[in-house]
Amino acid sequence: MKKLYIETVGCQMNLLDSELVVAALRKEGYELTGQAADADTVLFNTCSVRQHAEDKIYSALGRLKEAKRSMPDKVIGVMGCMAQKDQKLIFSRAPFVDIVVGPGQLHQVPQLVREAREKPGQQRLEVSLGRTDGKVDDIKRSHESFDPLRDPTMRPTPFQAFVRIQIGCDKFCTYCIVPSVRGPEQSRPPSHILAEARQLASEGCKEICLLGQTVNSWRHTEDGRAWRFSDLLYALHEVEGIERLRFVTSYPRDMTDDVLEAVRDLPKCVKYLHVPAQHGSDEQLRRMKRGYTVAEYREMHDRAKRWMPDVAITSDFIVGFSGETEEDFQQTMDLVRECRFKNSFIFKYSERPGTKAANRLPDDVPEEVKRRRNNELLALQNEISEEDNHKFLGKRVEVLVEGPSKTAVRNLERADANAPLTGPLQLTGRTMCDRIVVFDGNPRQIGQTLSIAIYDVNLHTLFGAVVTEHVGPEVFTLAGV
Ligand code: SAM
Ligand code: SF4
Repeated sequence: MKKLYIETVGCQMNLLDSELVVAALRKEGYELTGQAADADTVLFNTCSVRQHAEDKIYSALGRLKEAKRSMPDKVIGVMGCMAQKDQKLIFSRAPFVDIVVGPGQLHQVPQLVREAREKPGQQRLEVSLGRTDGKVDDIKRSHESFDPLRDPTMRPTPFQAFVRIQIGCDKFCTYCIVPSVRGPEQSRPPSHILAEARQLASEGCKEICLLGQTVNSWRHTEDGRAWRFSDLLYALHEVEGIERLRFVTSYPRDMTDDVLEAVRDLPKCVKYLHVPAQHGSDEQLRRMKRGYTVAEYREMHDRAKRWMPDVAITSDFIVGFSGETEEDFQQTMDLVRECRFKNSFIFKYSERPGTKAANRLPDDVPEEVKRRRNNELLALQNEISEEDNHKFLGKRVEVLVEGPSKTAVRNLERADANAPLTGPLQLTGRTMCDRIVVFDGNPRQIGQTLSIAIYDVNLHTLFGAVVTEHVGPEVFTLAGV
């Protein structure tokens, strides 16, 4: 057995990519280790959406320099968006790196690792074509979707799985690096998605989460039939065994009536929409080239709430983007006050080389102003999230149990990871409206849907007690959770 250490930063797409790379390397005789120092292969799956994410990886690489010197046959690889963006720069900043692999070339990782081990000293670079490096079809072909069939034991939880339905992005928001590093928007054929969902269901998977940068923009024509995203939701809803369907991330302009109707009418569809607004000022949305106005976003939000009063809506916001005035920022605060998002991910603008904003719009909001606005918006959102959670006090919610809570995991990590989990255990799961619930239960309840009575709440979590119990799988081990 060889040891693999993998560190992943960034979005769910990266989590899925890492899961699939780990699965492929397990077939080559690797087992995971939590220690980079004694691993035979160390991989970083990287993100380039913000400078901070890149800095973290370069520092982590720097810390490996000595380990590589004392263990020269250790293979060190950088994969993902930063690999596609920086390419050879990674070799010059960290000359001991053996392989650099873009997100469109991940199927090559096992072979590249093998070659690096067999022929040490030769650096290998495998990336896709840039957005202006050739004909559109060639560029598309060079960004390959990596979706091999998975072994259920290799997923973080056997009853939940991500399913990629779309790669790349063509929206070209001026601040965003994703269209350059993940390539053109390409939708997977419905027959492939449905086959993967059926396979997952046959392996005991109960919840699938569809992934795409603008997931609700998915459309595909196959065998003469033009499919919309809502058609895909209806088709997936028919897959026996799948109990919950979720999807991220939605694009506001593509949240059409048919998508909202599908979410409202399909009982398996989780009543949760992640639809980033990014800003509350029209001038900022225009500079960001988001393709909608604040009034249009509000209309979409109100329509969703009118049709599904219990739907949970979450957003992303950027503060301190080029030209953002105090008045612009206050308009973002107003939008958050009005929409009362379940939660929001708030980011300080980080200029990305190669984007339209980096070329044409000055990064002119001082860092301390970005920080202050970030803190103010976060404080407002936190207040709303906690108030919102209070409405669950005394209520019953249906929870799909995901596994031990974070506290329980910390305690279990001190114990033997392969010992069967038995006896009382603090568990966690999610409601149909994406609330995290923590309660005392039993390991055999993992993977079941339980009714939980809520007796306490805080900003991020509902706390409750089991009301009813369904029959489900028997004993899980920590390694399998
Ligand atoms: N495709 C999704 C969408 O359109 O909302 C989001 C993808 S992006 C990886 C995740 C979030 O990162 C964005 O919603 C945005 O808020 C943030 N982001 C992207 N580029 C950024 C930048 N240059 N600086 C700060 N935040 C950024
Ligand atoms: Fe980036 Fe905009 Fe595409 Fe989202 S929609 S990935 S923010 S370019």
